[in-house]
Amino acid sequence: MILGCEDCGEDLPYVEVDGYAIGDRLLEGVIFHFFPNRSVKVRDEDAEYFDGLNNRKWLKRIQEYVLDGADDTICPKCKKEAYVEE
Ligand SMILES: [Zn+2]
Repeated sequence: MILGCEDCGEDLPYVEVDGYAIGDRLLEGVIFHFFPNRSVKVRDEDAEYFDGLNNRKWLKRIQEYVLDGADDTICPKCKKEAYVEE
């Protein structure tokens, strides 16, 4: 997939998604990374908190959320809006 940002180009290593989008307050501020190969990981700083949760379920939800056309993915470089394309 192509992960891009208008300012930074189309070769972003990943885009960021705030867990609030899928988990409401449970995951607010927990940042996930969505990669071009469609895999999803939680940000290192949030790993300890996230380990106490149902990881597989939430990782899959984030993946589905992005593939469904999430409009609030974030560029990891400039923190502005990013885009995801097939
Ligand atoms: Zn950017």
